[in-house]
Amino acid sequence: MGTMKTDVVVIGAGLIGAHTAVQLADRGFGVVLVDPDPPGGEQAASYGNAAWLSSHSVLPPAAPGVWKQVPRWLMDPLGPLSLRPTYLPRVAPWLWRYLASASTEAKLRTIAAHLRALLVGAPALHAEIAARAGLSHLIDAECGLMHVYPDRAAYAADAMAWDIRRDLGIAFEEVEGEELARRQPDLAPEYRFAIHVPEGGQCRDPGAYCAGLVAHAETLGARRIIARATGFRESGGKLTAVETTQGEIACSAAVIAAGAHSRALAIKAGDRVPLESERGYHVTIAGGDNLPGPTTGVMISDRKVVISRLQHGVRCAGQVEIAGLDAAPNWRRAEVLRTHLAKVFPGLDTAEGRVWMGHRPSTPDGLPVIGRASRLSGVVQSFGHGHVGLVSSARTGRLNAQLVAGEEPEIDLAPFSPARFA
Ligand SMILES: Cc1cc2nc3c(=O)[nH]c(=O)nc-3n(C[C@H](O)[C@H](O)[C@H](O)COP(=O)(O)OP(=O)(O)OC[C@H]3O[C@@H](n4cnc5c(N)ncnc54)[C@H](O)[C@@H]3O)c2cc1C
Repeated sequence: MGTMKTDVVVIGAGLIGAHTAVQLADRGFGVVLVDPDPPGGEQAASYGNAAWLSSHSVLPPAAPGVWKQVPRWLMDPLGPLSLRPTYLPRVAPWLWRYLASASTEAKLRTIAAHLRALLVGAPALHAEIAARAGLSHLIDAECGLMHVYPDRAAYAADAMAWDIRRDLGIAFEEVEGEELARRQPDLAPEYRFAIHVPEGGQCRDPGAYCAGLVAHAETLGARRIIARATGFRESGGKLTAVETTQGEIACSAAVIAAGAHSRALAIKAGDRVPLESERGYHVTIAGGDNLPGPTTGVMISDRKVVISRLQHGVRCAGQVEIAGLDAAPNWRRAEVLRTHLAKVFPGLDTAEGRVWMGHRPSTPDGLPVIGRASRLSGVVQSFGHGHVGLVSSARTGRLNAQLVAGEEPEIDLAPFSPARFA
C-alpha cells in the first residue's frame, strides 16, 4: 500500500481516533487512519452526541438501587430505558455487571475519582487543540452547563451524586425561581430549580469537530484509508501489520479506536472486554440562534435528556436502548425525545426535526479501556468511552500517543486497563 512509511495505524475515525491521530502526527509519527466511513459521519457516536464537554460527568449511568426503578422505566413509554427482549439472554451478564459495579456509594466514589482524573480540565484542553486546528468556533469552553430539576426536592433526591462531585473539587451553584427564568428564559415554568456547573463547556457541532480534527491531522501528515480493519499480522508476538478490506498496512503500532465495534479486534489483540452498545437517540431542530431553546446546555433530570444549542439548531439527546449493534433503530425512541423537548421548551416548534441513532461504546463499570493490549505488543486498546467519549476524547488522544511513544502516561492508567475484566 504505497511506499510511505507508516508507524502507527489508527483504527476508527470517531473522536477518539481523530484526537489520537492529531497527537501522533503532531509528534512526527507516520500515521494512517483507517475507517470505512467518513470521519465524524452519521455511523459514529461522535456525530450525534449531546455535545456536552462535561468534565463533571464522573458518575456512571447506573446508581445504587437503580435496578428498583428499571421495571418502571421499562413499562413507561416515555421512559429513558428500553430493552429488546430477544437480546436479553445475550446481554444479561453485561447488564448484571453494569448494575453491580454501581451498587454502593463506595464503588461510585472510586469510579468517579478515576473518571475525574481523565476528565479534569477537558473543556480547556479541547479549546487549546481546537485553536491549533482552526476549529475554535466549535468549542465553547466557558459557557457552563446546567442540571435542571422541577424543584429543590427533586434535587435533594440526587444529593449523593452532587456530594461525590463536590468532594472531588467540582464547583457548582444553585439557581432558583426568577434567576433561573432570567438565565433560561425559554424553559417551561414547571422547572424551578437548577444546578449550574461553571466548569462545563459545549461543542457546537461534534460531527464537524471530528471531521475538522481529522482534516487537521492530514495537514500534519496523517493519511486516511477508506477501509475496515479486520485483524493483525504479527511476528514473535509483535505487531507487523494491520489487515484491512483494502489490504495490509505494515506498521509497528496500532490503536484500536473503533468505538462500539472494537470488541472483535480487541480480542485478537488479547483482551476479551465486555463491550456493549448503549444505543442512544437524538432529534435536532434546525435553525439559528433565534430558535427558542436553552442558553447553555441543560440536563433535564426527571426526563433524563440533554438539550443543547448547536451551531445549526437545538438538539435533544438521550435514551438508553439495549438491543445490540445490528437491530434496526426504533424511531419511537426518538419521538419520545421530541415529546420531551416540546414539553421543556414549549416555544420551540418541534414538528420538523432530524432523528438519529448511535452506539455508545460501553463497558459495565462506566470506565473506558485505555492501555496496551495484553497479548499483542504494539497494539493500544482505546474504546468504551460510553457516555463521556466527547469530553474525554482530547486527553484520551494524548494518552494514546504517550503509550505509542513509550512515555509515562500523564495519568495512572491502571483503572482503565484492558485486562481488568479478565
Ligand atoms: C445520544 C448520545 C449522547 C451522547 N452525549 C455525549 C455528551 O454530551 N458528551 C460526551 O462526552 N459524550 C457523549 N456521548 C458519548 C460519545 O458520543 C461517545 O462515547 C464517543 O463518540 C465515542 O467515540 P469513538 O471514537 O470511540 O466511537 P465512534 O464515534 O462510534 O467512532 C468509531 C469509528 O470507528 C469506525 N469503525 C468501526 N469499525 C471499524 C473497523 N473495523 N475498522 C475501521 N474503522 C471502524 C466507525 O465507522 C466509526 O467512524 C453520547 C452518545 C450518544 C449516543
